[in-house]
Amino acid sequence: MTAKIIDGNKISEAIRQEVKSQVEELKEKRGITPGLAVVLVGENPASVVYVRNKGRACQEVGMYTETIRLPAEISEAELLSTVAQLNNDLKFHGILVQFPLPRHIDEGKVINAVNPNKDVDCFHPINVGKILVGEPRFLPCTPAGVQQLLIRGGYDPGGKHVVICGRSNIVGKPLLAMLVQKRAGANATVTVCHTGTNDLAYHTRQADILVAAAGSPRVITADMVREGVVIIDVGINRVEDPSTKSGYRLVGDVDFDGVKEKAEAITPVPGGVGPMTIAMLLSNTVKAAAS
Ligand code: NAD
Repeated sequence: MTAKIIDGNKISEAIRQEVKSQVEELKEKRGITPGLAVVLVGENPASVVYVRNKGRACQEVGMYTETIRLPAEISEAELLSTVAQLNNDLKFHGILVQFPLPRHIDEGKVINAVNPNKDVDCFHPINVGKILVGEPRFLPCTPAGVQQLLIRGGYDPGGKHVVICGRSNIVGKPLLAMLVQKRAGANATVTVCHTGTNDLAYHTRQADILVAAAGSPRVITADMVREGVVIIDVGINRVEDPSTKSGYRLVGDVDFDGVKEKAEAITPVPGGVGPMTIAMLLSNTVKAAAS
């Protein structure tokens, strides 16, 4: 068996088109142009690319967006003051502070400073707690992208055993909180594995759906999954590849070539979860503007 590919480019494009229609409707019927402020501190090359892509994606769906570029040496107090200004700026319905921040700035303080109503990354503890109690205001972009890939790819998690590898605050933990809810598109039995898990392979072999978010290249191999598993690979890892112009290429947390012979379906890297994350950011920004 060779796995079906769950195509993140195609599914994210469909979501962008939906968001575009919602933006047009908000403009026409209520005179609201959804606005997203993106704050970039310093010049981290990966962050510069992410921020550029987010800005472009906003423009393509007709949103207003501004990137606020701040020097790496800005003080924590100055950054918090910028966030406070954006909280009060009616042009912006969403605020995104691109992480990682320089080491002298406490990311937790910045997350807490964003108005929860504008927290389109869904990192604020209030919004994270709201997911857990089943009353989400927003869903965090990457876990929401994973859920949409499953639903729209034809693999509803309801009644399935989902095994998540990774317990970070941005992927594993919120995804657990989302998929365990008694609601459509969720209602799964969820196991979360992490660096403290004994015998990872024992758990991954139990999965109907496996979500790999460990941040470790090709850590999930064919012997660790059962026939017919559905795999969502969140990982984005740079590995050396002298055959490419740049000298490296991106791979996921799953050994794609080996696992695809056993899986029912799998997401590629790139072209799986990556494009979904931006689509869900757009979706959250429209939601913030409409509410
Ligand atoms: P993280 O480093 O914060 O967390 C990784 C988690 O995996 C930790 O909880 C750790 O306990 C667990 N882990 C690490 N090695 C493990 C192992 N061998 N077995 C079991 N668990 C293990 O990473 P993160 O921010 O959650 O990101 C995870 C991966 O997803 C990274 O590759 C990252 O680049 C990628 N990512 C992709 C997107 C996207 O848009 N596609 C978004 C966010 C993160």
